[in-house]
Amino acid sequence: MSYRLFFVSVLRSERLSPTFRRLTFGSPDLAELAWGGVDQRVKLVLAAPDQLAAVPADGDWFEWWRALPDEVRPPMRTYTIAAHRPEVCEVDIDFAVHGDSGPLSGFAAGAESGDRLLLVAPGPDAAPDVGVAWRPAAARRLLCIGDETALPAIRNILGTLSADQTCDVLIEVPDAFDVTELPSAAQVRIDWVVRRAGEPVGVRAEEVMFSRATSPSSPGEPDPDLWQEATGTAGDSYAWVAGEVAWVNRVRKRLATRGYSGVNASFMGYWRAGQPSRG
Ligand SMILES: Cc1cc2nc3c(=O)[nH]c(=O)nc-3n(C[C@H](O)[C@H](O)[C@H](O)COP(=O)(O)OP(=O)(O)OC[C@H]3O[C@@H](n4cnc5c(N)ncnc54)[C@H](O)[C@@H]3O)c2cc1C
Repeated sequence: MSYRLFFVSVLRSERLSPTFRRLTFGSPDLAELAWGGVDQRVKLVLAAPDQLAAVPADGDWFEWWRALPDEVRPPMRTYTIAAHRPEVCEVDIDFAVHGDSGPLSGFAAGAESGDRLLLVAPGPDAAPDVGVAWRPAAARRLLCIGDETALPAIRNILGTLSADQTCDVLIEVPDAFDVTELPSAAQVRIDWVVRRAGEPVGVRAEEVMFSRATSPSSPGEPDPDLWQEATGTAGDSYAWVAGEVAWVNRVRKRLATRGYSGVNASFMGYWRAGQPSRG
């Protein structure tokens, strides 16, 4: 088994920006967490206290979860670990809070120290790349595109890059005060795009993305050709895109015409507008 259950509780809650709330979870169990970094997916299961007591800690938690009647089965959602501090058995998860419409968003908004839930994440016997979609291989020309739910993964990814890599980043967020530092050793160009009030996710990002792809670079501006074509030697370019499903699908189609598809691209639908996640 590579993913296992961790019984965790909230240690701290911090408002990072208008959209983001960081919850720090702790548990002695987390000494066993083998976090693979970048965009590795983990699950949070929002079980009620009596359900937590009934979870088969060493048994098949997924069977237990699936066998519960629909009306009491605890919500399970996917997240990205923003930081792991094994020496103190802590992890941070950054939640893009979107009101009370989702159980995990509602939980993050109101979480208090001591609140307990389940984390499903890689255990000591997990392969380091289990649940990881970021697969640039030897590419040095990189594109990262995402909405706010992808920001924790993009921050992790940029932190792993080296000085001989170039990364163009486009991130759409709901609020100008969500813009934040994203340290990297690579040559990084970041376009932050702020969604207009009431507008569907991705509209602004697409406008910026494709205006850049068609406009020639001006003197003194970085060459925008990363947006235009996956060129260079084979395997040298790689695109990673994550966010709302319909938007990611549109971006996928547009990038395919520029040579980003198959092994030199990863496209992930992180959530679906108007529909709850199914876990
Ligand atoms: C691999 C992976 C990694 C992810 N990492 C993160 C992460 O680190 N941080 C993070 O915040 N999210 C992350 N997500 C996205 C997160 O799983 C979804 O946003 C999830 O739907 C939130 O659950 P919920 O209970 O709040 O809402 P749900 O019950 O799933 O949905 C309820 C309603 O809210 C809407 N909704 C869901 N998410 C959003 C949103 N972000 N903005 C506006 N409306 C929304 C739905 O369309 C639905 O109408 C990740 C998803 C994946 C697949």
